[in-house]
Amino acid sequence: MPAPLRIGIDLDGVLIDHREHKQKLAEEYGVVLEPWQTNTNVMEKFVSKEVYAAMQLHLYTHWTAMAPATEGALLILAALNAELYIISARRTDSVRYAQDWLTKHHVYDIIPAERIYFSGGDEEKSGYCERLGIDIFLDDKIRVLDALPGKTKRILYDEDGIAGECKVEDRLHIARTWEDFRQMVNGG
Ligand SMILES: [Mg+2]
Repeated sequence: MPAPLRIGIDLDGVLIDHREHKQKLAEEYGVVLEPWQTNTNVMEKFVSKEVYAAMQLHLYTHWTAMAPATEGALLILAALNAELYIISARRTDSVRYAQDWLTKHHVYDIIPAERIYFSGGDEEKSGYCERLGIDIFLDDKIRVLDALPGKTKRILYDEDGIAGECKVEDRLHIARTWEDFRQMVNGG
């Protein structure tokens, strides 16, 4: 039997949907964002550095608990025929909020804790993929995917449809939905 595919999945923006929270928080700081403007690849263009930093602080700590799962994510995750890993860039100080979210949504029933990694930064994800032999990686951040090892298939989770605007369609695979991702991985 061939070895199972090893799939790495990002957490924030891929499994956890922060979009509504981003809009609410931005509004508290006096900025109105359309849903697509909350996308991690472009949001920095629409808010000041200070507001961006303040938003991140809330999103990745006490606001995480209330954030929903991305549509279809948990059902499809449970049905994927592969060995699954989560590789998140969260830093030590925000990891426990992520773990609470994973517990609340029963993700540990699908992916055991020993396959869930917190790298501490975007730049470190590439090393994790290399060491773990990740075949396919799903992330919402273009910068992260661009830095991955050559043998890892890079899939952009692009719920907001920014791939065209960011001109990455020629070098990244694009999944607009979790169902797209499921089909790319297991076909059918
Ligand atoms: Mg992300």
